[in-house]
Amino acid sequence: MPDFVTAVQPTPRARVQAMKEYHPPLGSRDALRLDFNENTLACSPKVREALARISTGQLTRYPEREPVEAIVADELCLDASHVALTNGVDEAIHVLFETFLEGGDELLLPVPTYTMYEVYASATDATVVPVLAADDLQFPFERLLAGITPRTKIIAIANPNSPSGTVAARAQLIELTRRAPHAVVLVDEAYFHFYGETVIDLIDKIPNLIVARTFSKAYGLAGLRLGLLAGPVELVRWIRRVLSPYSVNSLALACLPPALEDRDYLNWYVGEVLSARADFEAAMDAAGLRRWPSRANFILIDVGPQHAEFVRLMRAAGVLVRDRSNDPGCDGRVRITIGTREQMQQAIVALNQTVSALSLGVSAQ
Ligand code: PMP
Repeated sequence: MPDFVTAVQPTPRARVQAMKEYHPPLGSRDALRLDFNENTLACSPKVREALARISTGQLTRYPEREPVEAIVADELCLDASHVALTNGVDEAIHVLFETFLEGGDELLLPVPTYTMYEVYASATDATVVPVLAADDLQFPFERLLAGITPRTKIIAIANPNSPSGTVAARAQLIELTRRAPHAVVLVDEAYFHFYGETVIDLIDKIPNLIVARTFSKAYGLAGLRLGLLAGPVELVRWIRRVLSPYSVNSLALACLPPALEDRDYLNWYVGEVLSARADFEAAMDAAGLRRWPSRANFILIDVGPQHAEFVRLMRAAGVLVRDRSNDPGCDGRVRITIGTREQMQQAIVALNQTVSALSLGVSAQ
């Protein structure tokens, strides 16, 4: 037996050694889940039926994604050559960055934004160039334009953005693609259904535009891990060289067509969230809490120095919310996902209790 105790262990790449571990708080979530911007209720019952029909024989085979890609492309009025299904948008971001970013390149990133852009970029040899939004958390369009250099390789924009819920205008996105023709402009439309505006119709007109969509939010399939990239044929071809042909599993592929077909369910859920968002906004205004105008299924509020206690008291009242204090420019801010109207009534009760227990907002006067 060789002496394993004294053996020298292999070390990862220097960039990986410099990375921080990212551990989102996914444990102990048996409460009202207003912390991860998921669908808070259920997916379409048609998806459940499809799951029940899965045969063991189906599970023995490797998944074939092309037929489902054709169905999704059709739904989006695109040709299948423009669309790649992925294991959630997270895989889409990972693969896009692996395909395009190398040493000397820059990822231009408006912040605060979705954490995984920075995580995946920091595993490449590229440099992240953060562009901080002003206190109103509006899309920092002028600052982004000023940040473009010959080294800019990707500009990653969540639209609507998280955790702010604010949006970039279509004309601004188009202008960015024009001003950085040597860079990929990624528009991540994870929260599209709650916003209703898209640039996906432009992917065969703009040679450097890529759009991402997820089935984790409005469709309620976060556990299945389903996302997609849509872009010009040439860019999608490069990405496919890096993308695993097996990464979207058979269960996810079987569930996607019924999820797409059940438009009534999707429309019902989105309508429920939009109406609950208005109720919740009114409750926050009445409580005197500062909030940012949101076009997505969540709202960012300013709780101030007692943010950790706020999250703890909300949890004690059965409602999970997410402290975003560690995000750039977000000290004291908490993000609350919007669920159904009934769920948000429960959240409003918990919010009012917490606000008065901590003497926040109008209860401070
Ligand atoms: N993009 C944004 C802007 C998000 O907020 C999230 C999830 N929180 C994702 C992508 C991840 O999507 P998926 O579950 O498809 O990986």
